[in-house]
Amino acid sequence: MQKIDPERIRAHVRFLSHDLLEGRGTGQRGGDIAAEYIATQFALDGLQPAGDNGTFLQKVPMVGVTPDPATTFSLVGSSGPAKDLKPLTEYVAYNETQQPESDVDAEIVYVGYGIEAPEYDWDDYKGADVKGKVLLMLVNEPPSDDPKLFNGRALTYYGRWTYKYEEAARKGAVGAILIHKTEMASYPWEVVRNSNSGEKSYLKLEGTPKLKVASWIHLEAARALANMAGMDVDKIIADAQSRSFHPAPLDVRLKAHMVSKIRPFESNNVIAKLPGSDSKLKNEAIMYTAHYDHLGIRPDMPGDNIYNGANDNATGCGILLELARTFSLAAQAPRRSIIFASVTAEEQGLLGSEYLGKHPPVPAGRIALDLNHDDVPPLGYPEEVEVSGSERTTF
Ligand SMILES: [Zn+2]
Repeated sequence: MQKIDPERIRAHVRFLSHDLLEGRGTGQRGGDIAAEYIATQFALDGLQPAGDNGTFLQKVPMVGVTPDPATTFSLVGSSGPAKDLKPLTEYVAYNETQQPESDVDAEIVYVGYGIEAPEYDWDDYKGADVKGKVLLMLVNEPPSDDPKLFNGRALTYYGRWTYKYEEAARKGAVGAILIHKTEMASYPWEVVRNSNSGEKSYLKLEGTPKLKVASWIHLEAARALANMAGMDVDKIIADAQSRSFHPAPLDVRLKAHMVSKIRPFESNNVIAKLPGSDSKLKNEAIMYTAHYDHLGIRPDMPGDNIYNGANDNATGCGILLELARTFSLAAQAPRRSIIFASVTAEEQGLLGSEYLGKHPPVPAGRIALDLNHDDVPPLGYPEEVEVSGSERTTF
C-alpha cells in the first residue's frame, strides 16, 4: 500500500488556508473554491462521484435567520401588568420555522430539564399534553456522579440545548424558553448573547417540526417570570432534580411577535466513493469525513479580517485528501466501499453533516463507521488519543 506523505498534507493545508480562500466561509466565494478544489482532487484520484447527478457535489440548501428589532416578547400574567423583555439583555430568541413573521400567544409550562430518556428512567414530561404551549426549562442535565444516570459527569445529548428544542418541537410545543444559570450552563450570559445575536443558519426545512420561539432568558427574567406565577425560581430549579418531577403550568402566557430577516442560500458537501472489492461487503461503507468550511471573511472588520482556519479544518481536509489518494492507489481496494466526504457549514452548527446524515450516499444502516478529522494540531507525534463517544461504539 502507498504510504501517507505528510508533505502532501502540508501542501493541501497551505492552499486551503491561503488568504485567497478568504477563510472558506459557508455561502462565500472562498468556501465554494475550497469545495471545487477538493472535488478536483477526488477526480484526479480517479474516485467515483457520489454527490448529486453524477457529480462530486451534494447541494445543501440553507436559510439564514436574523431576528429583527421589531420583535416583541412579553410575559402576561393573569393579573397585573405584562412584562416586556429586552432583547439580548433579558432574552434571545430565534424563529426556527424560518417564517418572516410569526405570532405566539400561549401558556407557559415549566418542564424541568425537558428530558425524556427511558434508558435512564427519566421523564420530565410524564405524558403531559404540551401541544401549542411554550415550555420553560433548565439547561444541561440533572447533575450526577452515577454513571447509570446520564453517564455520570459526562454530558450526554440530553443535556444539550439542541435536544431540548427538538424534543419540545416533537411534542408539539410552539416555543421553548431555556433558563440561563451560569453554574448550570457552565458559561456566562455573555456567551448566550454573543452566540444568539445576528444571523443564524439552519438547514432548509424538510418537514421536521420546529419552534416559532427557540429562546433563552436571563436568570433575573426567569425570577420575574416565576414570581408572576407565584413561584420561586430557586425552588422550581430544585424541584427538577428529582425523577418524580411533574410539569407545572405557570398561569403566565408568552405573547411574542417574532419578526425575522430570512436569507436562503446554499453550499455543497463534496462526496467521493471508492467501490469495495468484496462482492457482498462492497454494499457497506466506511466513511471518512472532514469539514472544509471555516469562519470566512469579515469585511466590516479593519486589518486582517480573514479567518484562515489552517488548523480548523484545513488539516482535516489535507488528511482526508491524502487518505483518498492513498486508498485510490492501493493494488486492491478494501473489501467495503469507502466514502470520502468533506462537509460544509460545520461552523454554523454541523449543518453539512446533518444534511449528509439525512441524505447519505449509502443507506445509513450500511455505513459501518465514520472517522472524522477536525482541528488536528500539527504539533509533532501524538502520544495519546482520546476518542469522544468511544463508549458508544464497539470499534
Ligand atoms: Zn472544526
